[in-house]
Amino acid sequence: MATPMSADRLLRVLRGAGLRVIEHRSWRTHNRNHKGPWGPVNGVMIHHTVTAGTMSSVELCYNGRSTLPGPLCHGVIAKDGTIYLVGNGRANHAGLGDDDVLRAVQNEQALPADNEANTDGNRHFYGFEAINLGDGKDPWPAAQLEAIEKAAAAICREHGWTHRSVVGHNEWQPGKVDPRGFTMASMRARVEERLAPPAPQPPAPAPSEESIVPANWNRATETDIELTPGEWKTVPAGSVDLVTGATSYTGSMHLTLTAPAGGTVQGRFFHLRPDGTRWTSPIVERLTTSGGSFMDFPHAGSVDPTERVRFEAIYYPADDTDETPAPITSARLRGLYWK
Ligand SMILES: [Zn+2]
Repeated sequence: MATPMSADRLLRVLRGAGLRVIEHRSWRTHNRNHKGPWGPVNGVMIHHTVTAGTMSSVELCYNGRSTLPGPLCHGVIAKDGTIYLVGNGRANHAGLGDDDVLRAVQNEQALPADNEANTDGNRHFYGFEAINLGDGKDPWPAAQLEAIEKAAAAICREHGWTHRSVVGHNEWQPGKVDPRGFTMASMRARVEERLAPPAPQPPAPAPSEESIVPANWNRATETDIELTPGEWKTVPAGSVDLVTGATSYTGSMHLTLTAPAGGTVQGRFFHLRPDGTRWTSPIVERLTTSGGSFMDFPHAGSVDPTERVRFEAIYYPADDTDETPAPITSARLRGLYWK
């Protein structure tokens, strides 16, 4: 349910959808508002004209007939997709239709069969007349179908409606056959797709193939060394380089060690430079627990091609007179790095 758009707003919405729109004669003030209410609006109705020829069809929809005064819709959609605006306000296009259909449109639900003519549709629907003979033979050019889709979707988007607010005259008023030549279900599917939010954009391409594929950072040793209280030791034993030269790395050293509860283990990564100096990461501290401790020391960074990444740990027992070493039974590095 929505307040009908002003002429300016409707024009802006349609042109904003990329449509070619022509303002025909005094369309802005041409309506049937003196014969009945206009709004609240609930949907967009699609018709075919049962005519051929663009300008004669546009004139007919503007003027109407002796038995049915114009405007006969709001916009006429030509074979080439151009939309001619012929009315703004109440227009003679929908006639009396089924209140159950109106309720379904209002609730954005699938439509029931139209088997009643008890409700004023001209009050509630924007109307578009697409130029077609309606004989099942007159073709529907792609440009015309696309214009129907775009116009309906643009109005739905503007009012916050879904594709279910787009109906055919043949779904509203018993006995009506228009539009004929395509199904409203297929048109609603097109409108639904057009209203769908854009797919997420893929990330910007990386500068090179090598840098986008990470390597597995995975070092493990089952039996390692003992941490003597108060002494930094490189883990795993043997001064293993965990990685050299990486634009980025992220990982965690997982240690299992045996020590009385209440002690602490500190760990840190460091980068060993060619001249023997070091950069060290912040210390991460873990508490020992009884019956063996599993602890992890995460870190992420980048390292120069000439530098080696290593890890070291230090153990402080709960009782600082205790000099029993803490055996590390496994040291396992897991992570990823990008060269
Ligand atoms: Zn119709």
